[in-house]
Amino acid sequence: MPSTATDKRRLQDLKSKLRTAQNVTTALHADSDLATYPLEIIYNGWSESSLQRNTDFFKSMQVVKDLKEKIQIKEKELESRERENIPRGCECPVCYNWLSPSRKLDCPHSVCLRCVQTLYNAAENSITCPECRAITSKPVNELPPNVALERAIESHRTN
Ligand SMILES: [Zn+2]
Ligand SMILES: [Zn+2]
Repeated sequence: MPSTATDKRRLQDLKSKLRTAQNVTTALHADSDLATYPLEIIYNGWSESSLQRNTDFFKSMQVVKDLKEKIQIKEKELESRERENIPRGCECPVCYNWLSPSRKLDCPHSVCLRCVQTLYNAAENSITCPECRAITSKPVNELPPNVALERAIESHRTN
């Protein structure tokens, strides 16, 4: 099984290829008879008939389109693999992603920063713990991070 690190490098490679392909496409677009149409509109109005034009510009758009699809697939793969590898206690009880950056509630539980922001009830200045339903009456910016947990996560993720 390929390591996550290798996959991340491959993803970076694909992304840099995409940037190059996008630059080429933008240059070819500026030189084409479609230069007056915004590039996004041409991308969105993509059809097989456009391909029949068979110009360098459309070939280049095809390359961009293929790369974007590949990147999307790779990102999904990586995401689900990372999720599978999250040890118990290192995952957010709301979104099941890595619990980092984290925020500690007044009960013994922690939630990831993104989720704690959605749990915060501004009208009541309270957060209901998703695990034990205990109420923490503090705004998000007064909640401390769970430093020990974040360190543990960091060491898991770099392995
Ligand atoms: Zn979360
Ligand atoms: Zn709790």
